[in-house]
Parts: sequence; structure tokens; C-alpha cells
Amino acid sequence: MKTYGHFIGGRHVPGRSGAFGDVYWPMTGEVAAKVALANQADVREAIENAKAAQPAWAATNPQRRSRVLMRFLDIANREIDSLTDLLAREHGKVLADAKGDIQRGLEVIEFACGAPHLLKGEFTEGAGPGIDVYSMRQPLGIVAGITPFNFPAMIPMWKFGPAIACGNAFILKPSERDPGVPLRLAELMMEAGLPAGILNVVNGGKEAVDALLDDPDVSGIGFVGSSDIAQYVYGRGAAHGKRVHAFGGAKNHMIVMPDADMNQAVDAIMGAAYGSAGERCMAISVAVPVGPVAAEKFLDKLVPRVESLKIGPSTDAQADMGPLVTRAHMEKVRGYVDRGVEEGAKLLVDGRNFKMQGYEDGFYLGGCLFDEVTPDMDIYKAEIFGPVLSVVRAHDYDEALRLPSENEYGNGVAIFTRDGDAARDFASKVNVGMVGVNVPLPVPLAYYTFGGWKRSGFGDLNQHGPDAFKFYTKMKTVTARWPSGVKEGAQFSMPTMD
Ligand code: NAD
Repeated sequence: MKTYGHFIGGRHVPGRSGAFGDVYWPMTGEVAAKVALANQADVREAIENAKAAQPAWAATNPQRRSRVLMRFLDIANREIDSLTDLLAREHGKVLADAKGDIQRGLEVIEFACGAPHLLKGEFTEGAGPGIDVYSMRQPLGIVAGITPFNFPAMIPMWKFGPAIACGNAFILKPSERDPGVPLRLAELMMEAGLPAGILNVVNGGKEAVDALLDDPDVSGIGFVGSSDIAQYVYGRGAAHGKRVHAFGGAKNHMIVMPDADMNQAVDAIMGAAYGSAGERCMAISVAVPVGPVAAEKFLDKLVPRVESLKIGPSTDAQADMGPLVTRAHMEKVRGYVDRGVEEGAKLLVDGRNFKMQGYEDGFYLGGCLFDEVTPDMDIYKAEIFGPVLSVVRAHDYDEALRLPSENEYGNGVAIFTRDGDAARDFASKVNVGMVGVNVPLPVPLAYYTFGGWKRSGFGDLNQHGPDAFKFYTKMKTVTARWPSGVKEGAQFSMPTMD
């Protein structure tokens, strides 16, 4: 059986903790690999390597740093089929979706190639007599990324691409559930010419994360995962004086107005609710048809589509969705469906007993659809993170606007309508960070920024886009005077430029 260690100082190392976790192939249910779980000493080894390598990397001019990313893009595209296959096997999502995971990460690497431009400072000539003021962005030093299982390519690249382009050394602590692709990405960065020690991958769980949060040599932490852990990481990292942004879970609503094109709305929600078996932070998990007529029309079209979802092993190119990530997670999701029934929600499509022929040990669950869900129910409040869609019927637009606005999460939201005025009002008023208008998964492109509100995001500055270059650098501002024969004597009052 394959064993994953860590990638430190440009090479694979086995790790010293002696502790290992299981890496499954969800489509078959087998344990496909063991992964070393780092202890504090492993993390410290990565930090020492990063510390030794970072000054020379920061001193490498930004164009040269970007060229490493440019070469990485070529190499990763060359390897995209093998990366896609590995990702699909370890995560469970189907091939086309796994490829999208890689591509959305590479788009941020493309953006990060603009580092020479994005790192430019400001300059004011003649701010006072003989005085110039200028600012420059300098790397934080050593930064770490702690990432979730559900995008094992995209989110690591969202983090290490901009961080490395800025001149930092990076320590990635990917999810211990699917570490294969993150390790492979680090190898490919080396092949692209990245110096050893600039991108390190430390596998593990809480012990590794705590070691990063507490280490005084780590200056910045970018976290993505569930909300309680995001809040914990934010608090503990900030208490140690680090710059931290931590992105959490979600409960994303899709409002279906009575004038929406119902065929479009149903197509959209099928992909957004059941794609990747609902294991996306931007997945739609609540549909809100407005008014009884819209609800009936919407459900008439939706129910047969959910019943005919094509579920298959991750390597089946025809499948709409694959298995869930682990047996424990599958059981948790199934438990929520049981709970919804107990709470009195109407289960219109029950996928609990789905079995995948020939893959009986895989972690499959059929698509589930609830109607008549109310905001006080547990299935409404919890981020289920599975192929379970809840329909909450709203009487009018104001009630539909209130639901996502008052929800504790605020990641994504969508409205389907043909009324520009309603859409504009919704986009302006809704208390959520990312909004789609007739777009179900409004994941901003690489040159915009990604970030949720409320319990979906802790800290300041979003992921990727220009914010990433602010997050991974600190601003230095220089006020310079070159006096030519001027003698003013000591000045004891606050200097002004009058
Ligand atoms: P998770 O919170 O279980 O794990 C995330 C990371 O934290 C992993 O690297 C994990 O090893 C580490 N971790 C786990 N337990 C820890 C602990 N007690 N202390 C310290 N670190 C710990 O999340 P997951 O199940 O891997 O991913 C799914 C979650 O991520 C969902 O809630 C999803 O909405 C969220 N997510 C959010 C975004 C976003 O941008 N907001 C994007 C993707 C996923």
C-alpha cells in the first residue's frame, strides 16, 4: 500500500510522528493509502527549511518568480489527466468535476503571474519641500495554508500561487483525506524551477495545525474549512499575532421568483445542489420558490430530475455525481435525512437506500429532496454537505430576501428571475458575500476575490484577486528627504507638509 509522507525542503520525507491516517477511494470504499500525520517536530522541520530558503526567494525579482508559475502552468496542464484521475479517486467527485477543480486553481496561478504589476508600490514626488513618499509591498516571510478535503487542487493553488509570487515561503497543510494531489502539485512546482523549501507540504490534522498556529516564525495563515474550526484557527492564530483569514461553511439559498425561466432554474439547481454530491462550499442547499404557483411549477420539474440523477463511480465519465468522501460523512448526511423526516419535512425523493451495483462498499447516497422545510428545523440550520436539497417556500419576495440574509452563514446566494429591478434590489440588499443573478454558483473569477460573510468568513481580505496580494504582503512606507543645503534646526512639533 502507498504511504504518503511530507514534502519538505524539496523532497519527500517520511515524518517522525509514527501516526498515520487512512486515505480512501470513496468509489470502492477501500483504503488506498496511508498518510503520515505530522507532529510538532515535523512542522518545525518544514518551518526551518522555509526560513532558510525564503530570503533568497524574496530577493529574486518578481518577474523571475512569475516565470516559475508560468512554467508550472505548462507542466500542470501537461499532467492534467493524471492529476484529474488521482483527484477523482481520492475525493470521489467525477472526472469532469475533478478537472474543473484543477482548472479553477490554475486560473489563480495565471492571475498570480501578474505579480510584478500587482506588487508595485505608490510614489508621491514632492510631498513636501525636497520630500518624496513611497510605499512598497514586502512578503510576510513564512505563511501557511490549511485547506479542506473538498477542493484538494483549487484551494491549495488559491493559496500558494499568490503567496509564493509575493516572495513568501509557504507551508501547505492539506486535508488528510485526499493528500495525493497537493503533494503532486508541490513536485510539479519544483519541476517548474521553484527553489527547495519555498513550497512545503505537511500532512496531518489538529496537531499539525496547532503547531503552525503557535509557531512564532509563521506570520500568516489562510484557512478554509468548516466554520467552528475556521473560528478556532482565526482566534488562536490572531492571539499569536499572526495575520489570519479563515473561511468557513455555508448554507446557500437559491431564490426562484415566479417569473423565472423554470427550465433554466431547474437545470441550474440540479448541478448546484447535486454536483460533487453537494460537497461544495458554494453548493445550493436551500431552494426558495416565491409563491405557491412558482413552488408547484418548480417542484413538478425538479422531482423527476432528482429521481433520475445518474450516480456512478468517480471514473465514470457519464455520471452526474459520485460518492461522498468517507463512510462516516455519508452516515452523517444520511442521519440528517432521517432527522428531516422526524422533524416533519416532506421527503419527496429519498436516496438513503441507494446502492451502487458492483461498488457495494463505496460511499454512495442517492439524491434527496425535501419540501416544506422551515427555518426552525435542524436540516435547515445545519450545513449538511451532501446531496440533500431543502425547499423552503416563501410567500413573497421580502420573505425570500430575509431567509439568506438572516442565516448564520453568508457565503453564496442566487436569484432566478427575469425582472432586472428585483435582481438589482436583491443583489444590493442581501446580507451574503457572493451573489448570482441567474447563476447558481457565483464563484468569482480569479481576478475578483472570493469570500463569504458572517460565519462563512473570519478576518479581513478575501481569497485570490488583488486581496491575495494584500494579504500575503505587508506595506512599508518611506518618507525621504534629500536636503540640499537647507538647515532648519530641530523641530519638536508634529511635522506637516504645509
Ligand atoms: P474541516 O474543517 O474538517 O477541515 C479543514 C482543515 O482543518 C483540514 O486541513 C483539517 O485537517 C483541519 N482540521 C480539522 N479538524 C481540526 C481541528 N480540530 N483543529 C485544527 N484543524 C483541524 O473541513 P472539511 O470537512 O475538510 O471541508 C469541508 C468544509 O469546508 C465545509 O464546511 C465547507 O463549506 C468548507 N469550505 C469552505 C470554503 C470557503 O471558501 N468558504 C471552501 C471550501 C470548503
